[in-house]
Amino acid sequence: MEADASLYSEINPVALMTIASVILEVAIQKALDYSIPEQLATTVVRGAAVMVPLRGQLKRGFVLEVKATSSVPIAKTLPINRVVSDGPVVTEDLFDLALWMAKYYICPLGKVIKTMLPAGVRKNIQLKEQYYVMRKITRDEMRDYCAKIQNKAPQQAKVLEVMLQVTKGILQSELLEKADCNASSVKSLVEKGILLLDIVRADRSPLFGHEYFKAKPKLLRGEQQVALDKITETLDKGVFTTHLLFGVTGSGKTEVYIQAIDKALLLGKGVIMLVPEIALTEQTIERFRSRFSESLAVLHHRLSDGERCDAWEQIRLGKTRIVIGARSAIFSPMPDLGLIIVDEEHEQSYKQSDDSPSYQARDIAVMRARKTQATCILGSATPSLESYYNALNQKYTLSILSDRGKATLPTVHTVDMKREYDKAKGPTSFSDLLLTKIRERKERGEQTILFLNRRGYHTQLTCQVCTAAVMCPHCDTKMTFHRKNNSIQCHLCGLEMAPPHTCPSCSAHAMIKYQGVGTEKIEAMLNAIFPDIRMLRIDADTTKHKGSLEMLLQEFRSGKADLLIGTQMIAKGLHFPEVTLVGVLNADGTLNIPDFRASEQVFQLITQVAGRAGRGHVPGEVVVQTLLPEHSTILHATKQDYTSFYNEEVASRKLFGFPPFCHIVKFLFVGKEEDAVVATAGRFNEEIRKTLPQEFLCHPVLPAGHAKVKDQFRYHFIIRGPSIAPIRAAFEACTKVFPPSSTVARFIDVDPSSIFF
Ligand code: ADP
Ligand code: ZN
Repeated sequence: MEADASLYSEINPVALMTIASVILEVAIQKALDYSIPEQLATTVVRGAAVMVPLRGQLKRGFVLEVKATSSVPIAKTLPINRVVSDGPVVTEDLFDLALWMAKYYICPLGKVIKTMLPAGVRKNIQLKEQYYVMRKITRDEMRDYCAKIQNKAPQQAKVLEVMLQVTKGILQSELLEKADCNASSVKSLVEKGILLLDIVRADRSPLFGHEYFKAKPKLLRGEQQVALDKITETLDKGVFTTHLLFGVTGSGKTEVYIQAIDKALLLGKGVIMLVPEIALTEQTIERFRSRFSESLAVLHHRLSDGERCDAWEQIRLGKTRIVIGARSAIFSPMPDLGLIIVDEEHEQSYKQSDDSPSYQARDIAVMRARKTQATCILGSATPSLESYYNALNQKYTLSILSDRGKATLPTVHTVDMKREYDKAKGPTSFSDLLLTKIRERKERGEQTILFLNRRGYHTQLTCQVCTAAVMCPHCDTKMTFHRKNNSIQCHLCGLEMAPPHTCPSCSAHAMIKYQGVGTEKIEAMLNAIFPDIRMLRIDADTTKHKGSLEMLLQEFRSGKADLLIGTQMIAKGLHFPEVTLVGVLNADGTLNIPDFRASEQVFQLITQVAGRAGRGHVPGEVVVQTLLPEHSTILHATKQDYTSFYNEEVASRKLFGFPPFCHIVKFLFVGKEEDAVVATAGRFNEEIRKTLPQEFLCHPVLPAGHAKVKDQFRYHFIIRGPSIAPIRAAFEACTKVFPPSSTVARFIDVDPSSIFF
């Protein structure tokens, strides 16, 4: 029971800091007061992890505050049992951020902190030894030797190919990654006296040793300079501001980032830059390394736990001042943070949707900048509706880059595929126009990229007797036929099996028809039409192996192929100067998904994809094939008219009450027993309605877009309203009545990227 603090303040005559308020690891916000035993007086600090007694058990928690008084009678506060961390678990500003995230994303604090910390740091892995690899013979000798062993020892040859490209030497871990091989190949080469190994002390940055010529900053164009001036002004003042840098692909956003980073470093400030995982290619990294020779950490997903741990430590100690990484890099413990950049801010991959906390790294970036009085730059050619809305409403400072320099915007041709079907007397994948233009490119020695958002050969198998499609036995999705393995696969659970001869639904024999076209079939068909065109394909099937994506991109860039077929994997942030033609095979593929973001995503995809054409000196062309040529989203996208798209879309969001005009929280229930899932979701839905304020709208329970995945049934419902806090309060009231069930799991997705799936 809590009492009035004033009654007890006299009991503690000298204001000693003897009380700690502790948030239990599994709680969202409720703090409990404990007394600090004398021997723990120096180690109980804000952010430290402690064990505290609760109802006869020891629980883990985090110290929120150390204070002199408590509202609970001193005699009733129990003592902290022990401190289990070495100082605060995360730095001060991250702890603050964690507290905010726990509330906003309705997620226990312990889980938020776990998300922030790299696995290696959590497990306290020590990086013991790293090796630095150098050449022991001259480059020429190495080239000869490499050619000699090419057939006998291809792995070793690959290692040497990488070694021929490095200036002085390279970390073994990086070498292995680049050559996609294991340490034994390096060891053999060392034994043969070709390579030299040196031990690197653990306190060195994993990225030291690169020698680059430091490239000079470019003279900015007018609009770039205006944008940079605005950014520099807020950096100088050290006040929180978010800038939206809205510029078409190739308009020079990255150049602005680089010069802003320069400025921040000059001011002694640290920098975090987020890029989509796919864009963490050697190409982007080289571009940054060539500009900032020292103190740059790249946190890509291939770092080992130990390396990540080491990088984290270097950042925390202030030895690394620039961090570039995907989503989770936003949690880097950068001291004196001055600048946060989110490139391609509209990218869905910044959102963690499959696990709790369901955080959006772009929003975290803005919040972290606000808490540290840093400057935040969001950059995009197709800003998210929310960000552009904020910019128009003066929450963000808007800078527009419309000049593409020497490169011009591509010409876009829209092809009505219904007419092509009529001409071909049936469905066809390629329009005459697209085929003609592909042929032209081949003749001129230029490159082409084709996009199709479906992988596999045939995208469905249908019984001609009962019309049922062959479904995954464990998931609510159709099986896809893959010709390479002559198998059918489920893209949700990965199940692979032989194609059936009889229909699983009606047992009709030999009546199954293969339909729908995926990237594998596109490749085969094009090969038949253009036997002389060299093709590459990039999708989840061709990039399963470590390093294969990098390799395929590199092959295409170096001109080893004329045409690249890919899924949306390659739509983002990649730069291919020789590409002058881009074809979008089914532009409207996902427009019919019943989701408020469907139009936005189609618009972004077409615009981003079109931006891949003509980044070099030759102007580009884009062919957009669609069955809905009159659909306004397609029309705006093919005209690359963001403003018209925005105006139309924002009006519809306002009319129907979707973000940015409200917040959405999605509650998902998952379990093996469908009845139990439906019942639990239903009861929760009924209960939470009772405590929601009037202006909040609670929708009924529906099966999720994929209603079953890996034999687990999925049902969800959403709540819409002006803010999150009342939804959190209603949720907490509800969990008191409904403690978490052991058979039906519950996930909360705040600001979900989709309300359908
Ligand atoms: P974005 O990030 O908007 O796609 P980039 O920064 O990659 O654009 O710029 C596209 C190309 O233009 C790059 O090759 C870059 O080096 C070049 N570039 C950018 N700004 C300038 C400038 N002010 N002067 C000359 N070249 C520039
Ligand atoms: Zn499946």
